[in-house]
Amino acid sequence: MLDKKEPSKKQKRKRGRLGKHFTDKVSAFDNAMTQFDRAANILKLTKSQVAVIKEPRRVTEVKLPVRMDDGSIEVFTGLRVQHNIARGPAKGGVRFHPDVSVDEVKALAFWMTYKCAVVGIPMGGGKGGVVVDTRKLSLGELERVARRYFAEMIDLFGPDSDIPAPDVNTNPQIMAWFMDTYSMHERRHVPAVVTGKPLEIGGSAGRVSATAQGMVYCVRKAFEHLSISLAGATVAVQGFGNVGSYAAKLLRQSGCIIKAISDIDGAFVSDNWIDVDLATKHVETHGTLKGFDETAGVEKLDDPMKLLELPVDLLIPAALENQITGENAHNVKAPVIAECANGPLTPEADEICEKKRVFIIPDILCNAGGVTVSYLEWVQNRMGYYWTEERILDDLKRMMEDSFAKVLQTALAYEVPMRTAAFIVSIERVTEAAELRGLYA
Ligand code: NAD
Repeated sequence: MLDKKEPSKKQKRKRGRLGKHFTDKVSAFDNAMTQFDRAANILKLTKSQVAVIKEPRRVTEVKLPVRMDDGSIEVFTGLRVQHNIARGPAKGGVRFHPDVSVDEVKALAFWMTYKCAVVGIPMGGGKGGVVVDTRKLSLGELERVARRYFAEMIDLFGPDSDIPAPDVNTNPQIMAWFMDTYSMHERRHVPAVVTGKPLEIGGSAGRVSATAQGMVYCVRKAFEHLSISLAGATVAVQGFGNVGSYAAKLLRQSGCIIKAISDIDGAFVSDNWIDVDLATKHVETHGTLKGFDETAGVEKLDDPMKLLELPVDLLIPAALENQITGENAHNVKAPVIAECANGPLTPEADEICEKKRVFIIPDILCNAGGVTVSYLEWVQNRMGYYWTEERILDDLKRMMEDSFAKVLQTALAYEVPMRTAAFIVSIERVTEAAELRGLYA
C-alpha cells in the first residue's frame, strides 16, 4: 500500500538509511487533492460543488492475459480513470510502467481535467496505465499487451467518450495499435478514438514535439515577465524521452545552453554544453543515455537526483511525479522551474519554493501543449482534413500564450503562486460547466 502523506521526520531519517526510493511512495493523488483544496478554498466553493468536481467519476481495473513469446501466459493489470467529463469527453494518455498504481492514475486523470480547462479545450480528464516493464517485452509482446488493454477497455473508449494518447513508455506505434483494435472491433475507420498517432494514419503535424513546444511558449513569457534573457540561459532537463528530448532541443534552438540531461540510467552534466543531437542519436542507437559520459566533456553524476540541484537558470523536470520534495526543495537553485512532467513537485516542495521565490510554471499549464495538439488532431480526424504544421503551431502558440497570460493575471490578482492561479482559472471553468449541465435524474 502507498503511504498517504509526506514522510515524517522519523520516516525521512529511516529513508536516509534505506536509500532513495522513499519519495516514490508519496501519494500523487493526495498531492493533487492538496493542490485542489488550496484553490477551492480561495474560490470559496460550496461542499456540493467540491463533491461534484474533486474526485474521479469512474475507476476501472482489468486483468490482461497475454501470450508471451515462449508460449506461457502472463496476466497484466490495466487501469483507466475518467475524472470529470463536464466539459467534454475524457482525454488523457496511457502509461506503461512497473510502478503504475490506482493512486497515480487517479492523480494523472485529475490533472487532465484541469489541464484541459486551463487551456480552454472542450474535453474532460482521463488517464490510463498498464503495470508492465516494457524493457522486458519483445515488440510482439508489447503489441499484444497494448491491443488487449484497448480491447478490455473498449466500452469506455470512443471519439465522443474517452480518447487516449501517449504518455510514459507509450508512443505513436502503440497509438496505431490502439486505433486499429478499435476500428477492427467497430468495423469502420475511427481515427479520432486516439491521438498521438503516426502522421500516416491520421496523426497531426506538430504532435510529437507539442508538449515541449508548449512549454517553450510558456517559458518565453515567464522569462519576459521576470526580465531574464532566454538567450544564454542555462538549463537542466530531467528525463530524456519524448518530452525531455524535445524540451532540450527546442530550448537549445531558442539560444539556451543545456548543461545537464538525465534518464532512468543516469544524469550527465557538462562544463560547457550538452550536444543534444548527439544525445538524441545515442538514445536512438542504444535505447538509453547509458554510456553517454564516454562522450568528450560529459560527466556522469554519482547521484542522478543532484541534477535537480544544479545552479542553472531553468530546471525542467520531464520524467515522473514526486521528484522535488520537502527533502531536496531547499537545495534547488534554479529561479524558474517549468514542469513538463506531471506532478514533479510535492505540496511541501511547493511551499519551500514559494518562500524561495522560485517561479514555477505548473504542469497543468506548462505541459498542456501535448493535449492541445491532441485536441487539434481529434478535430482534424473528425473533419478528415489536415492542417499544415505552421497552422498547428500558430494555434498552439496562441492558446498557450493566452492561457499563460490568464494564469499570470490571476496569480497577480489573487497574490498566489502560478499553480494555485492555474487551478483557480480551471476550477471555475469546470464548476461552471458542471452547474450548467446539472444532475441527470
Ligand atoms: P517517455 O517515456 O517518452 O520518457 C520518460 C523519460 O523519463 C525517459 O527518458 C526515462 O528514462 C526517464 N525517466 C524515468 N524515470 C526517471 C528517473 N527516475 N530519473 C530520470 N529520468 C527518468 O515519457 P514522456 O512522454 O516524455 O513523459 C514524461 C513526463 O511528461 C511524464 O510525467 C508525462 O506524464 C508528462 N507528459 C507527457 C506528455 C506527452 O505528450 N508525452 C504530455 C504531458 C505531460
